[in-house]
Amino acid sequence: MTPRLHLDAPLEEGANLSLGEGQAHYVRNVLRRVVGDDLKMFNARDGEFAAVVSRADRKAVEILLGARLRPPAPESDLWLLFAPVKRDAVDRIVEKATELGVARLMPIETERTQAHRLNIDRLGAIATEAAEQSGRLSAPKVDELVPLARALENWPPPRRLIYCDEQGDDALADWGGDTGRAPPLLSAIRSLKPPHAVLIGPEGGFSPAERARLRALPFVCPVSLGPRILRADTAAIAALALVQAALGDWR
Ligand code: SAH
Repeated sequence: MTPRLHLDAPLEEGANLSLGEGQAHYVRNVLRRVVGDDLKMFNARDGEFAAVVSRADRKAVEILLGARLRPPAPESDLWLLFAPVKRDAVDRIVEKATELGVARLMPIETERTQAHRLNIDRLGAIATEAAEQSGRLSAPKVDELVPLARALENWPPPRRLIYCDEQGDDALADWGGDTGRAPPLLSAIRSLKPPHAVLIGPEGGFSPAERARLRALPFVCPVSLGPRILRADTAAIAALALVQAALGDWR
């Protein structure tokens, strides 16, 4: 399969583009492309183009764009809010969410968030690579880490927030006991109008105060992902797959 490269610069037939350092290294040393080799270049604004390597030496890698293969087209508009967990789990969340069509990745700081620092550029690079491999035209945007409270204060009202909530209401029982559990995801979201966002908590879950706040908000729809406690990365993948299948672009 011809490798696809995402490039923010304007793309048009006949343009000869010089790649930045990171992509030049990738093309030359990882993909091992030489002059005359085929590539595809894409972005959400201009679509996807046939391309050929026109220069590949120590100083620069240049790409000559050929015909447009795909015009720009609207894509899935699903957001994912997640609390940063361990680094490899965060990497997995970013990669899998991109494959599953997430348009915007929003890391949020919660009371029990363990990681308080995130390398957004690195996560952006993971998302871009996943977009290249999965045939998307867009690479999702990765936001800076913001506190949950701020994300909720600034929430755009029409967007429904599908809150993955594994807990019950009993403060003394494991996982909050059986009462007050959220309904299963598929039945809870059946009549939710787009656009949507999915919210996944940290390894330690949301605090009782955060849970109460979330459940009181009109745009929040609490959902259960079944009787087992999933790791945050598993929960993100499971919830996104179900939302795409029931309401999104898998239909
Ligand atoms: N409460 C836990 C586990 C948190 S799991 C603890 O104290 O350790 C991490 C996140 O994954 C949760 O915040 C929730 O958003 C999601 N999650 C995991 N299992 C879930 C389930 N069965 N139903 C709904 N959400 C779930």
